[in-house]
Amino acid sequence: MDCLFCKIINKEIPASIQYEDDDLIAFNDISPKAPVHLLIVPKKHISTLNDVAEEDVELVGRLVKKASELATQLNIDQSGYRTVFNCNSDGGQEVYHIHLHLLGGKKL
Ligand code: 5GP
Ligand code: ZN
Repeated sequence: MDCLFCKIINKEIPASIQYEDDDLIAFNDISPKAPVHLLIVPKKHISTLNDVAEEDVELVGRLVKKASELATQLNIDQSGYRTVFNCNSDGGQEVYHIHLHLLGGKKL
């Protein structure tokens, strides 16, 4: 499949991976908008938030939980952080494989 994040998941393209398990991967955004800017990505290819099925609800929940765990590991849990899903054109989505942005380390 011609999907950038599937290629990162399949290790066809390198990324600075911060966390990985059977279902999720988290890596640094190539163009960080804050001192901490991770993308937390399900290994299952889901194109947009609109395509999240009932069976994916637990997976998306794990994505959100992992964002908070990584925030704690990176010591931004108390200072605070922002999590964002962009959806489709008006939402500014560039990569059509859902991902949760985790941004922090400065006042946003
Ligand atoms: P979106 O706009 O789809 O919500 O976010 C896509 C994000 O992926 C952008 O913040 C962009 O900087 C990041 N990105 C694009 N290409 C690559 C890449 O090849 N590697 C990594 N690590 N991030 C990328
Ligand atoms: Zn994909």
